Amino acid sequence: MAALNFKQELTAAFGQPISENPTQVMVEAAYRHHGLDWRYLTIEVAPEGLAAAVAGAKAMGFRGFNCTIPHKVSVIDHLDGLGESAEVMGAVNCVVIEDGKLIGQNTDGKGFVSSLRELCDPAGQRVVIFGAGGAARAISVELALAGASHITIVNRSVERGEGLVDLLNDRVPAEATFAAWEGDYVIPAGAGVVINATSIGLFPDVDARLAIDMDSLTGDMVVADVIPNPPLTNLVKDARAKGCPVIDGLGMLVNQGVIGIKYWTGVDADPTVMRQALEDVFA
Ligand code: NDP
Repeated sequence: MAALNFKQELTAAFGQPISENPTQVMVEAAYRHHGLDWRYLTIEVAPEGLAAAVAGAKAMGFRGFNCTIPHKVSVIDHLDGLGESAEVMGAVNCVVIEDGKLIGQNTDGKGFVSSLRELCDPAGQRVVIFGAGGAARAISVELALAGASHITIVNRSVERGEGLVDLLNDRVPAEATFAAWEGDYVIPAGAGVVINATSIGLFPDVDARLAIDMDSLTGDMVVADVIPNPPLTNLVKDARAKGCPVIDGLGMLVNQGVIGIKYWTGVDADPTVMRQALEDVFA
């Protein structure tokens, strides 16, 4: 299910008007690759139609669906249960229908953690996250559940940043602190993972740079960017130049898709096929 104004939503998420939903292209590429006779359809649902759409998905035998803004929170009223992280975040982007029950999950943070695990174990890490919106919330909650020991939220708006820090300190085991983002942020020595979870760098603002004191970014830090379009952001380039191991925004997008396909079909989808499908869309 997608949003009411579907084209505007895609533009917000991917930075440019895209006629094909990249997630649909990516998931269906995996279905074809694995010989699965399945479809992943993009369907616009207005807020007032959400209850009927969810009931319809169940009645028609769907195995599940993704949902996006404006349904990520309101869909919860129509579900039978929530996964642990979705319950903490209060947001669902993936619904699994099994034995007549609808269970809400949040695969954004899980996808991020899967990509991070390719480079390091999140357990015990001290993490710096720029941003305090939906992406930062999903990533920080899932990292805390994966054992990250300390999370610093760096955000421009103090209220939003402190709100996320309060949520983390109340609901997950990691210790969280807030840093107001004023001038070039100095990354504390000892940080193991540095993440851009803001929209800085998203097309068309491809020249934008995060305000970071680049002397404080060292080659032993793993750097991740959530921006899918273009995946080669200035942060990705700068971090590579410093010798940092880097995850780009396609990693998170691909891995949330892999997790959704596993939930629905039981198949471990090949991430390389899915990444190629996305690269073709964004080319
Ligand atoms: P939100 O609107 O919820 O949050 C945006 C965040 O970015 C806020 O913290 C905001 O700060 C900050 N921000 C935006 N512009 C600036 C700026 N110029 N300077 C400083 N801070 C800024 O968005 P989401 O969290 O939903 O999405 C963020 C990005 O993540 C999007 O670009 C989206 O494409 C990407 N994304 C990628 C996914 C993937 O799979 N790769 C999945 C989900 C999202 P403030 O609070 O001060 O306004």
